[in-house]
Amino acid sequence: MYSLDDFLGNARIIKGLKNMISSGRINHALILDAPEGFGKLTLAKTIAKTLQCAEGREVPCGHCFSCRSADSDENPDIVFVSGSKATLGVETVREEIIEKSALKPYSSRYKIFIIRDSQKMTEQAQNALLKTIEEPPSYGVYIFLTTNYNTFLDTILSRCTLLKLMGLPEEVIVGELLKRGLCTEDNARAISACCGGSLGRAVRLSGDEDFSRLREQAAHIPQRIEDADFMGLYDIMEDILKVDDRLTELLELLYMFYRDILVYAAGGEEHIIQKDYEKDIKTICGRVNMKRLFRGANAVFEAGRSVRMNVNKQMSIENMLFRIKER
Ligand SMILES: [Zn+2]
Repeated sequence: MYSLDDFLGNARIIKGLKNMISSGRINHALILDAPEGFGKLTLAKTIAKTLQCAEGREVPCGHCFSCRSADSDENPDIVFVSGSKATLGVETVREEIIEKSALKPYSSRYKIFIIRDSQKMTEQAQNALLKTIEEPPSYGVYIFLTTNYNTFLDTILSRCTLLKLMGLPEEVIVGELLKRGLCTEDNARAISACCGGSLGRAVRLSGDEDFSRLREQAAHIPQRIEDADFMGLYDIMEDILKVDDRLTELLELLYMFYRDILVYAAGGEEHIIQKDYEKDIKTICGRVNMKRLFRGANAVFEAGRSVRMNVNKQMSIENMLFRIKER
């Protein structure tokens, strides 16, 4: 049985939601804002289930009709709304939210709308929705899920309670991946360092063989750079560019290796993240001095930033490799 207490992290938000439910003073419009994989949908479903439970407590009972139907996403009074791939337009908002809001709940206390990908909602759709949000029916609850709350009109925003979900600390993600038996501890550490606090992304990466291959590729790059002559650097560049849309991840992993090499070189063996590559880390430590290691880490960091900012990829990687190689 899943309740608000089981939601990982975001303690302040969870406490506020529990207060809201136990006091019975329900905010009729909530916005859950976070990047992909932070658990917006899970949280929205849990809020909905808790509000609908026949026993009306902070923790849903798990066995009433409402709870059971909510668990299987079949509660007739919890409406999921999503638009097309590109937009969430006025037609959908009218049919799925405004018209359905006029109908009283079938069997539960509330009629709850969970609106996914609200960042795709057109201005016209938001304007159409305004009146419903301003004067919601006593049973109406609207939970908007978005990756970017800035796309809401001020008029909508000012009538909603905005809850911004934070990413989870690396330790929590490692613990969760291990608890679910998804990967080894070494992999869990590497994944948690690259998933930006998103458990959803971490879970996806743990089942992704390409990610393991990417990690292996990153592990060998520092060594390859040291071995390469001028033309060899271009071979490395080509290999790096071959990963295509996973370039940012490869650079994050490479940065993590340089970080580990630096930590190792400074005598902090027990603090390196990627213990399964300790041998490679040790080898490179013996070959490159601290000053060049620092420069290497910086060069990788800068390349990652350039790529995220859509600077020419080839140029970014070329710059990075030459800066690392420089004596
Ligand atoms: Zn219940």
